[in-house]
Amino acid sequence: MVQAAFSYDALPMRVRFGSGVVASVPEEVDRLGARRALVLCSPGRRATAETIADALGERSAGVFAEARMHVPVEIARRARDRAAGLGADCCVAVGGGSAVGLAKAVALEHGLPVIAVPTTYSGSEMTAVWGLTENGRKRTGKDPRVLPASVLYDPELTFGLPVGMSVTSGFNAVAHAVEALYAPDRSPVVSLMAQEGVRAMTQGLPAVFADGRDPGARTTALYASWLCGAALGATTMSLHHKLCHALGGTLDLPHAATHTVVLPHVLTYNQPAAPEATEALARALDADDPARRLWDLAGSLDAPRSLHGLGMAESDIEPICEQVVNAPSANPAPVTRDGVTRLLRAAWSGEAPPFPRRA
Ligand code: NAD
Repeated sequence: MVQAAFSYDALPMRVRFGSGVVASVPEEVDRLGARRALVLCSPGRRATAETIADALGERSAGVFAEARMHVPVEIARRARDRAAGLGADCCVAVGGGSAVGLAKAVALEHGLPVIAVPTTYSGSEMTAVWGLTENGRKRTGKDPRVLPASVLYDPELTFGLPVGMSVTSGFNAVAHAVEALYAPDRSPVVSLMAQEGVRAMTQGLPAVFADGRDPGARTTALYASWLCGAALGATTMSLHHKLCHALGGTLDLPHAATHTVVLPHVLTYNQPAAPEATEALARALDADDPARRLWDLAGSLDAPRSLHGLGMAESDIEPICEQVVNAPSANPAPVTRDGVTRLLRAAWSGEAPPFPRRA
C-alpha cells in the first residue's frame, strides 16, 4: 500500500563511492574552499589518517588520533582546542562512528565542515546527530552543522575491518533501517532505501564472513551501510536505539555488538504493531518472520547474542529499563515497564525471543 501522507527533507550532502575514492580527499577539501584540514581518527586508524594527511600536503593541519567510542567530553575538548590551535578550517574523519562523532563534536563548537571517510558500517556519517558522554551519561542532539558536507565510501578501507566487527557493524546498520521502516516520519523514498539496505547488508555479510577481503562482498556491505545510514539520518529512531543508547552510554557496552544482540528482541516486540514495516522486512530478508531470520543470521555468523556475554550485570536490567520507559519514544508498540523488562531479560540471558506470529 502506498503511504498516504508524508514529508521528506533531502539532506544536503555529497556522496562519492568506489574503490580508491579515498584519494579524492584533497579534491573534496578544495571543493569546500578549505585550506587546512585536521584529520581525526581513533588510535587504530592512525596509519590511514597519516596517508590522507600526506596526500593533503600543505593543506594538512595534522592528525588527531584520540577518537573513542561515545565521544567522551574531555576528548572532544582536546580535539576542539587542537583544531583551533592549528587554525584548521575543516575536519576529515576517517574511521567508524567514533571518529565521525569526534569530528561532529568539533563542528558543533567551531562550525568547521566535515569530510567523512567511513571504515565501518555505523552510518553516523549520514546523520546530523551528535553525541557527547560526560559522567556516564550520553547526551545527543541534532544540528545541521554537524552533517558531513562530503562522504567518501571506499570499500578498500574496510578490507581490514575484522570479520567479527564487520558482522556486528552490519547489524548496527540493519537496526537503523528496521527502525526507519516504522518511524513516525518515514516516507516512501526512505523506506525504499531502508528495505534495499537490509537486503544488501544481509546478503553481503555472509560473503564478508566467508572472506573479509572479497571486494564484491565489501562493496555490497558498504553500499548497504550507506543506504541504512541515510535511512537513519532521515527518520526518528525508537525503542531499539533508545535501549542501545542507554546500554552503551551507561554501561559502556560495545556499540555495534549491543545493537546486534538487542535487534531481534526489539523487532519481535514491535512486529505485531508494525505490519507494513514487517512486510517490507519480510521482502528484504526473503523470510516469513524477519525477527527470527535476523536471530538465525546472527547465530550463523558467530555474532554475540547475549548482553550477559558483552559484560552486562543482571542487576543493570532494572536501571536501564527505568531510563528507557521514562524517555519519550514514538515506538509502534507501547513501551511498558513489563514489556521492556521481559525483552531485556531475554536479551541479557541470550535466550531466543518469543517470536510471536505476525499480525
Ligand atoms: P568505532 O568507530 O569505535 O570503531 C571500532 C573500532 O574499530 C575502533 O578501534 C576502530 O579503530 C576500528 N576500526 C574502524 N574501522 C576499521 C577498519 N576498517 N579496519 C580495522 N579496524 C577498524 O565503532 P563504530 O561501531 O563504527 O561506531 C560506534 C560509535 O558511533 C558509537 O559511539 C555510536 O554511538 C556512534 N554512532 C553515532 C551515530 C550517529 O548518527 N550520531 C550513528 C551510529 C553510530
